[in-house]
Amino acid sequence: MAKLVKEDKQAGRLHIDTPLMGESLVSKKFLKKTDKDEVFRMHPDINVLKIGGQSIMDRGADALFPILKELVKAKEEYKILLMTGGGTRARHVYNIGIDLGMPTGVLSKLGDKVSWQNAEMLSVLLSKHGGVKIGHGDHLEQLTMFCRLGYLPITYGVPPYGFFEHPAEFGTVPPHRTDCGAFLLAENIGAKSLIYLKDEKGLFESDPKKSSEAERGKLKYYDKISVDELLKLDLDDLIIERPILNMMQHTKNLKQLQIIDALNHPEHITAALKGEHVGTIIYKDE
Ligand code: ADP
Ligand code: MG
Repeated sequence: MAKLVKEDKQAGRLHIDTPLMGESLVSKKFLKKTDKDEVFRMHPDINVLKIGGQSIMDRGADALFPILKELVKAKEEYKILLMTGGGTRARHVYNIGIDLGMPTGVLSKLGDKVSWQNAEMLSVLLSKHGGVKIGHGDHLEQLTMFCRLGYLPITYGVPPYGFFEHPAEFGTVPPHRTDCGAFLLAENIGAKSLIYLKDEKGLFESDPKKSSEAERGKLKYYDKISVDELLKLDLDDLIIERPILNMMQHTKNLKQLQIIDALNHPEHITAALKGEHVGTIIYKDE
């Protein structure tokens, strides 16, 4: 614990006696000492649900309305924060940006508006059921209050890196997009669960959409896999953004996430909220 001490050769100067004093905060050995078994969970009852941009929202009413119906029902029993993906419009603006030679941080700023548009649409569609669009500012501390009052808070998924986005390992597309945003927020608010609503039942050995109908049936499916195993597999393509895997090795709160096929099975949303295993669970090795 930090102590205020008032002793200095030059009388009256206030010093703060803190264990972090004089440290660069870089030393691995030192940083390990700051580890805690448990970190404070701000919203332990909130379930973070990311609704896919390309996988769900771009498909329009037929895909979205059954999911919204399920969510409106589920919110009576479960506290939910909805986060939105970008989708095809984000991909289009990335493509134009890349063609113009834009750096990753600019592409990130271009893409977040699309995820914002999707949050706007959801908040309009859900407004009569308590849907309320919130930003990434002070309202995030108030999520439990919103849910207790019967609201369904909705925010966009792109994390606010903007010009501070990390360089991508491969290419220039911003590596931290909306799957990462949902992951980071779920971890930092100490959420109860993190569920990705997509159009496939989870993780396969490769993208099923790039396989023929016949090949698809033969693809290996992972209903549960640890993040270490998944990193070892080093798959070329994944159903969630790749940086999540490395970040998950270091989470303090979030121990697992689930990816479900909400497009073909909207009822899996409630099942996943109940804690049922209906898609792919990626978990953290302890
Ligand atoms: P979202 O709009 O939800 O972010 P994306 O289209 O970005 O969804 O990512 C989900 C898609 O990832 C799936 O629809 C699937 O076609 C593709 N995909 C790529 N690799 C895999 C994999 N190994 N297993 C399952 N799906 C994969
Ligand atoms: Mg995506």
